[in-house]
Amino acid sequence: MIRDSNQKKILQLLQKRRELTKQEMSQILGLSIPTIATNTNILIAEGLLEEGGIGDSSGGRKPVIIKFLPNARFSFGVDISSQRVRIILTNLDSEILASVEFIDLDFTNIELILQRIADHMTQMMMDLKIESKAVLGVGFSLPGTVDEELGILEMAPSLGLYKVPLQKQFQAYFSAPIYIENEANAAAFGELTLGIAQQMKNLVYLSVTHGIGAGIVIKGHLYKGKNKRAGEFGHMTLIPNGKQCKCGRNGCWELYASVQTLLSRYRASLKAESLPTSITLKSFFNDLAMGNSMARKVWDEYLDYLTTGIQNIILTLDPHYIVVGGDISLYEDYLLPDLQKKIFTPNAFYEEGDTSIVISTLKENATILGASLLPMKNLLFQNESIL
Ligand SMILES: [Zn+2]
Repeated sequence: MIRDSNQKKILQLLQKRRELTKQEMSQILGLSIPTIATNTNILIAEGLLEEGGIGDSSGGRKPVIIKFLPNARFSFGVDISSQRVRIILTNLDSEILASVEFIDLDFTNIELILQRIADHMTQMMMDLKIESKAVLGVGFSLPGTVDEELGILEMAPSLGLYKVPLQKQFQAYFSAPIYIENEANAAAFGELTLGIAQQMKNLVYLSVTHGIGAGIVIKGHLYKGKNKRAGEFGHMTLIPNGKQCKCGRNGCWELYASVQTLLSRYRASLKAESLPTSITLKSFFNDLAMGNSMARKVWDEYLDYLTTGIQNIILTLDPHYIVVGGDISLYEDYLLPDLQKKIFTPNAFYEEGDTSIVISTLKENATILGASLLPMKNLLFQNESIL
């Protein structure tokens, strides 16, 4: 569904302002009253707007107020990672109306996982009494490279999946337009549309979870590159001849700076001292807060690796902002001061303040909200935000 651009302008304006008269819309958008009236009537007929109340008038007939209806359409976001599958249902204001997740994932049977996702969605629609025609579509966030035009997951080493025609497979279980996107790109798109990046033009979104992904935003557009692989910083070589990566190369950044690595290094150091080793991110930061010297040592080493990668990104792209998201972003108080200090050690190229290091405002929801925005692109977004 490609919308008339005037209808998009009206919808976008009303989403922001919530209610306006046709006269006000005409003034703000610089469109004639008949153009506003024709397009508004189409949007009312489709249930996206409604007439309600009477506006102020300086005399003569009082104008009718037109209202935005956030619950006129809905969208699903699905975030698939090696740890879990999460599904959300959002309205046009990106409010999360329902959320479901499941674990116990066997990626050798992706068909079964897709079927479970579809079953959950059907149940969510029944619970909220949402009809199929009100669902704009489903946006998938995937931990790997994707061909979003062909709907193919090209490769996701962490899931052991290669060349999966995900869009086609999922269509067999759920009938709605289906969109797919890389997880860090989806998160960058979420931040760009709803979060911290609304005002920022050049930024790199870093998702630090079990791996490291990145989304690059240049002048307000998501930059994906010729083969849709831009931003695979997690697999840039940090240590020549370093650890073997699932991608086939050695010494990739994410092998040294992912959350998984942080935890496994801490576990290994505790094991060497024969201490209990059931460690989560939460318990690690508890230990760090308690002044545990082993936790401090592992944290410092980890931050050195994380820092080197971020410094390389700053030298390559010179962005306004590095937005840190993913699991690690929940521990902002520990992360930001230490990271800033390390990144801006004296060097010939940049100093503190040249690039801001900030934490994702959408936190753990950045990726999945970005995914759920994909089906709304044709309805609400004026410009193509993805290059
Ligand atoms: Zn790699």
